[in-house]
Amino acid sequence: MQNKLLSLITEHLPLGLIMYDKDGGVEYANNIALGMFGVTLNEIKGANIFDDPNISDEDKVKLKKGLSVSFETDYDFNLCRENVVKTTKINDKRYLSTKVSVPCDENGVSQGFLLTCEDITENKLREREIANSYKKIRATQRELSLALNVGNLTSWNYDIKSKMFYRFDDKLEICESLTLQSVLDRIHKDDRDGFIALLYDATYKKELINNETVLRILERKSKQYRYYNFVYSLKDDNNGEVSGVMFIQRDITEDVKYQQNLILAKNKAEEADKLKSTFLATMSHEIRTPLNAIVGFSQLLSEITDVEEKNEYRQLIETNSEILLKLIGDILDLSKIEAGSVDINRQELDLAQLCQELYQSFKQRIQNPDVTLRFINPYSKCIANLDKHRFIQIFTNFVTNAIKYTPKGYIEMGYECKPNQIRFYVKDTGIGIANEKKSLIFSRFEKLDDFAQGSGLGLSICKAIADATGGKIGFHSEANQGSEFWYVGYTNVDFVEKLEISEADNNLESVGFDENASCKNKKELEILVAEDNDSNFLLIKNILKEYHLTRAVTGLEAVEKVKTQHFDFVFMDIKMPIMNGLDATSNIRKFNSTIPIVALTANAFNEDKEAALAAGCNYFMTKPVTKRELIAVLS
Ligand code: ADP
Repeated sequence: MQNKLLSLITEHLPLGLIMYDKDGGVEYANNIALGMFGVTLNEIKGANIFDDPNISDEDKVKLKKGLSVSFETDYDFNLCRENVVKTTKINDKRYLSTKVSVPCDENGVSQGFLLTCEDITENKLREREIANSYKKIRATQRELSLALNVGNLTSWNYDIKSKMFYRFDDKLEICESLTLQSVLDRIHKDDRDGFIALLYDATYKKELINNETVLRILERKSKQYRYYNFVYSLKDDNNGEVSGVMFIQRDITEDVKYQQNLILAKNKAEEADKLKSTFLATMSHEIRTPLNAIVGFSQLLSEITDVEEKNEYRQLIETNSEILLKLIGDILDLSKIEAGSVDINRQELDLAQLCQELYQSFKQRIQNPDVTLRFINPYSKCIANLDKHRFIQIFTNFVTNAIKYTPKGYIEMGYECKPNQIRFYVKDTGIGIANEKKSLIFSRFEKLDDFAQGSGLGLSICKAIADATGGKIGFHSEANQGSEFWYVGYTNVDFVEKLEISEADNNLESVGFDENASCKNKKELEILVAEDNDSNFLLIKNILKEYHLTRAVTGLEAVEKVKTQHFDFVFMDIKMPIMNGLDATSNIRKFNSTIPIVALTANAFNEDKEAALAAGCNYFMTKPVTKRELIAVLS
């Protein structure tokens, strides 16, 4: 009964069990052990424990001494096959946890050996898998922290439940925790709503629309906003539920600044390109206009005999040469300013005398009988340390502009002194400057009136001179009331004796062009000349003396005239006030498709020609034009 019970127990043990006799020979093995080793009881009966190569020599010694041993083995069946028993298990390796004990009788005499073993292969493999995974995680962690370091990245987690942000250090351990509110407080107000929406989606919809955003975040120390790029994704808890958002943050402030600078540079380059084109177009026009008069009147000069007429032509050539010279001077000055070298040579000047001389010379320039030039000279002597050339340049520019933009009234030039400063000014009762245009006055190439002679450079050069001399320049102006331009120079001034203010001359000589004066010898052809510039009209008038000419000074006037009078031919300037020549031509073409219209313009670019022909002109001539060309086109 006892034996039966014992046999039942041994067969149902969850362990392999082998019993050896005192010498180590196998006596019994339960089915689990037999299955484990792939043998039958007969095959292993008599096999000796001390021949088993899977038990170490050390353990064998212990067993012989009656000591129990336990060990774990990578049990190699091939070894056993060769040395101990036949086994059906080939090329198999199992992990066994083995214990061999030495049961003794009551006198302590060994009764044999009892081996129990458990197959722990599955556990072992799992353990090894876990160890490998752990190694991989460590390696990934190291790589990640290296990447964070190298990329200057910071890792954040937002925890939905606690509404807290956790920052990780380069060992991926939490090093900072912030409340949602404190994070929101530091985000730029314009970026805040987008970020709140992102957290809302993660919290309530458990989804994210994007995976990247840029936020401006206030830096605590500098109190400046820096730009950060955030790449993010949802984070799961152990149960696979969305528990928060993972963020990788990168400081992109320098990139953004670089980008902004690039855009600025690009805009500047485009602006410069535009300016260059404007400059070329303006220059071409501004050079050709006086050149037209110079070339034309020079030709006529050789053909006429009348002394008065000759003098008139000479005067016109001189005036236009001066305009041309001033323009070239301005361009040279501009190139010096561009190169940053406005040279200033100060010397002692008597302003009382110099201004008187300038006044005399400016007087000659006023040709409009409706305008008077006044000079306020409060001192008989006024010695100041100034650059004479630059002083004259600024004064001349102010007065020239005042003459250009004052159709009626007076122009007043004058100066005032204090012991360490001199202020000179030019006032006029001219057209003034509209408020919205005031900020453009000292900018390069800014002409507020496209039809006035000038390159738009004069005042910007004056400003550069004022800056180079450490002086100040400015103006007051009211549209349709007049303007006052002034310059203040800082220098020691020695002035004496206040004089009575001299009232200015008026009724200055003017050059009036009576367009009907030379309309004698009319031929049958009726010609309309649309031309706003007096010199250029006079030139055409003198070349085509024998024809009957009518003048229009704006495009609109030209259209009206063609509509209401009979003309055989039209010379059409392109740049004219109120309505330009292109629009005037298109308008004329609406009711008169046959009248020959010849564009006669200082705009000499190919696109100008194309535009003129497209508007309906039959022919295109660029100024300066010669008598031969004009006669040829008429015939
Ligand atoms: P420009 O050589 O074309 O005269 P400036 O630089 O001297 O160029 O002047 C720039 C613009 O300022 C002019 O085109 C004109 O529109 C305006 N301006 C200058 N002076 C006066 C003035 N006294 N009255 C009205 N407008 C003026």
